[in-house]
Amino acid sequence: MSDVDDLYQEQILEHHKHPRNFGELPDANRVANGHNPLCGDKLVLALKVNDANVITDVMFQGSGCAISRASASMMTGAIKGKTVEEAEKMYGRFHDLVTGQLPDDADLSDLGKLAVFSGVKEYPARVKCASLCWHTLKAALDGGDPTVTTE
Ligand code: ZN
Repeated sequence: MSDVDDLYQEQILEHHKHPRNFGELPDANRVANGHNPLCGDKLVLALKVNDANVITDVMFQGSGCAISRASASMMTGAIKGKTVEEAEKMYGRFHDLVTGQLPDDADLSDLGKLAVFSGVKEYPARVKCASLCWHTLKAALDGGDPTVTTE
């Protein structure tokens, strides 16, 4: 296994065991549910967005595989404090990353720790696990249908 694979495994397991921002957010003003029937991943994402369009707080709940939980854990950490616009841009970047649409030498520095998910592009079924939380985020921010499914 390469160093990247090792790092990937380590980070996924660590976030799976100790998910960040896991729990309820009683005063949330944006909420959406995500479901990945292929794997059985379910999550509820709750955000607090202020008048300046900044995501001041975000929490998630749900059950799912290690990848879906780790992805939600890392995503919530990455978007907290960002504007809605920045979070949507990150959504696009993450989507391109896990679906293998970025060149091998792409600069991933703006993605920070999320770059470890580049490994899932080799496993199409896992792409849905990793991106479920991001689709749910998009639904919550768009304010449209609050329930998304990867199928
Ligand atoms: Zn999964």
